[in-house]
Amino acid sequence: MTKAEKLKQIAGRVAKCTRCDLYKRANKPVPGEGNPGAEVMFVGEGPGYHEDQQGLPFVGAAGKLLDKLLQLIEVERKEVFIGNVIKHRTENNRDPLPEEIEACRSFLDEQIQIIKPKIIVTLGRFSMNKFLPGEKISRIHGQARYVDFLGKRYIVVPMYHPAAALRNGRIMEEIKEDFQKIKVFLEENPEEEIMEKNREDKQLKLV
Ligand code: URA
Repeated sequence: MTKAEKLKQIAGRVAKCTRCDLYKRANKPVPGEGNPGAEVMFVGEGPGYHEDQQGLPFVGAAGKLLDKLLQLIEVERKEVFIGNVIKHRTENNRDPLPEEIEACRSFLDEQIQIIKPKIIVTLGRFSMNKFLPGEKISRIHGQARYVDFLGKRYIVVPMYHPAAALRNGRIMEEIKEDFQKIKVFLEENPEEEIMEKNREDKQLKLV
């Protein structure tokens, strides 16, 4: 089976999923979309109103900003893969519950294992916490980390959620700067900088 076929199969399972109650109120499932061979994978929180209407990730206001940020770094949306921690909308876009995240976990895990991106960009804290539990986004946004996840090492770059940038001008400036780094991490070997950050983290934890 090709990567595209495997991703399609996951989307089929998401569409039939009843592991938590979110499917009952949701209009459409939003399994994620994009290039099955993407080097960069974006992981958001979960579908909002427009995503739920269309069955596609990041197509509302936050999605329009994501498109602009991609344009800034001359990356086309079709080159990347865009997914979410949860695949059905929560009522009134409330935060997902731990049990909903857990019920949905294997879908995103499988997508990552199929795509095997070089870089995972997390958008918002729910996505960041999947890879970097207990971290604070205000402290580590825009910083790359090596994360060993399901048997493979990924470069994980936590970023603010685009919806937060729409509400706050300072975060907008920061997310633009952070996006520029995606290009750097794709083009250069970021080994030294990341290892340095990982070492700093370990030291911080020892104190
Ligand atoms: N916000 C998200 O976290 N994901 C989407 O798909 C859309 C908005």
